[in-house]
Amino acid sequence: MQGRCLCGGIAVSSDEQQEVSLCHCAMCRRWSGGPMFAVHGGTGVTFKGLTPVAYRSSEWAERGFCPTCGTHLFYHLLPTGEYILPAGLFQEQSFELTCQIFIDEKPGFYALKNDTPTLTGQEVFEQFAPKA
Ligand SMILES: [Zn+2]
Ligand SMILES: [Zn+2]
Repeated sequence: MQGRCLCGGIAVSSDEQQEVSLCHCAMCRRWSGGPMFAVHGGTGVTFKGLTPVAYRSSEWAERGFCPTCGTHLFYHLLPTGEYILPAGLFQEQSFELTCQIFIDEKPGFYALKNDTPTLTGQEVFEQFAPKA
């Protein structure tokens, strides 16, 4: 599937995906201004055009954005090389929300009607932590 940033300076391509998870964690909310609608792009994601700026947001991940328009382009898990991409980049794609994570960090001022499974931060780390 093909996506792009707001200014069009960067084109993103990833394997076709339908599933979106929503991350309510404090870092995603500070980064995005709200919870992050996240698509697991795998390791074969490519960026064409301008070079994304990468910010090392933790020991195990970096977050990338367009140097011109600031559009958020990726959350990159360094141990696995996996890219997690904002669903908003891919506006022609039909997605389904399948999971909400870091539900214990969700602030009280919003709640989604979507009936999805939820995971706490602790459960996310237990389920997805790289077994190294
Ligand atoms: Zn841009
Ligand atoms: Zn998050």
